[in-house]
Amino acid sequence: MAIATVNPATGETLKTFDALNEGEIEDRLVRADQAWQEYRTTGFDRRATLLRKAADLLEADADDIARTMTTEMGKPLAQARAEAAKCVKTMRWYADQAEALLADEHPRAVDIKDSGGARAYVRYRPLGPVLAVMPWNFPLWQVIRFAAPALMAGNVGLLKHASNVPQTALYIEELFRRAGFPEGAFQTLLIGSGSVEMILRDPRVAAATLTGSEPAGQSVAAVAGDEIKKTVLELGGSDPYLVLPSADLEKAAATAVTARVQNNGQSCIAAKRFIVHTDVYDRFAALFTEKMNALRVGDPMADGTDVGPLSSEQGRADLEQLVDDATMHGATVLCGGGRPEGMDQGWFYRPTVLADVTKDMKIYYEEAFGPVATLFRVADLDEAIALANDTSFGLSSNAWTEDAAEQDRLVRDIQAGGIFFNGMTASHPGMPFGGAKRSGYGRELGDHGIREFCNITTVWYG
Ligand code: NAP
Repeated sequence: MAIATVNPATGETLKTFDALNEGEIEDRLVRADQAWQEYRTTGFDRRATLLRKAADLLEADADDIARTMTTEMGKPLAQARAEAAKCVKTMRWYADQAEALLADEHPRAVDIKDSGGARAYVRYRPLGPVLAVMPWNFPLWQVIRFAAPALMAGNVGLLKHASNVPQTALYIEELFRRAGFPEGAFQTLLIGSGSVEMILRDPRVAAATLTGSEPAGQSVAAVAGDEIKKTVLELGGSDPYLVLPSADLEKAAATAVTARVQNNGQSCIAAKRFIVHTDVYDRFAALFTEKMNALRVGDPMADGTDVGPLSSEQGRADLEQLVDDATMHGATVLCGGGRPEGMDQGWFYRPTVLADVTKDMKIYYEEAFGPVATLFRVADLDEAIALANDTSFGLSSNAWTEDAAEQDRLVRDIQAGGIFFNGMTASHPGMPFGGAKRSGYGRELGDHGIREFCNITTVWYG
């Protein structure tokens, strides 16, 4: 894949970039290693000062970088601005919290005596340069949610960003440099995915995190496994959204729309499968379809646009194929189902609701990465849970019910890394984020996230 900015709203190639050659990659690895040797000895105060400075700079740049993101991958500008603001918040959160999150831990006195020691504690030490392979869909957020905790823990970062967001990738490197982080503490590597293996096998690289598709995750995890290096994988999702009889249907339908079409439908934690109790199915289906149909599809830079283009021509072709396969096998199109009329330029697709989806259709199993919802009718909670879990993914989940017993049952039985009641899945700096099953492993954010790339060291005194 060429490293280039191609505007998905027009299809126009705006800027192309050369990939780094082997010598240039080697220079960056040397710099990362040297930076780490010094940076790992800095204290939390110094790291926090630098990260707060980066947050301030990003806050000032928010509008510009939001425009760059929208130009490169097509999300509505207001959502790009919100993404930048969330990054600022998360950087400040980790700057404030990291020292407490990584404070020495003291095992219980009785355990120390059992070990024959006088004193012992656990220290969270940094691991080293971490390679981050990141996707284009939240081009700032995915990187910052890795970088803020990693830098606060004393690691340094090497970013291999998606090939279609090079300007955002270069901006992030520059942001940390301007904030005063040592040369080499955070570097963007403009490389294709073919260079990832060589970098990951390099002994100077300690670990890797990947957010992206299953095949990319498998490939990176296989190499890292071979090298005995730690990985965190944040992969795809096909999150269920359960609507049960006690739900406030108006609110459930309005939130369902946002949960499905946020980021032009290209979010790993978007609700994708809407599983509705038969008692409220007809009413929910009508409300949901009406609201999906009313969305404004158009120029992502324009005020009032709800849904912009898909990020690539291939992305739209993949989505079209899923929908066409479903309709060929008997799915009913309640709204959408194709490209918007009269919009010949760019990779737009209409918000779509499909009903009567069955196991004969690819969309039953695969992640629909665009504004396409599948709707299912279930007879009771048991059937809802069985259907929700009938997927290889397990990223997050959503359920609308006021019934405490139903909520407890769902917390016990839903196979996913999160469950959000009467709302939609969202990440928060203070709460762990990550998946189960083929959605990946490990966690980002919160105290769990910052500890993923630490050497958890036992210190014992006889
Ligand atoms: P993708 O093709 O896997 O790309 C993601 C990153 O991996 C890019 O930097 C890509 O580089 C690189 N890559 C691709 N194949 C690789 C390989 N074999 N070895 C090493 N690196 C490789 O993902 P996408 O289709 O652009 O992104 C959408 C996917 O990401 C969806 O499945 C979505 O659900 C998932 N996602 C998950 C989360 C989460 O937190 N769980 C968040 C966002 C997105 P190039 O661009 O150069 O190919």
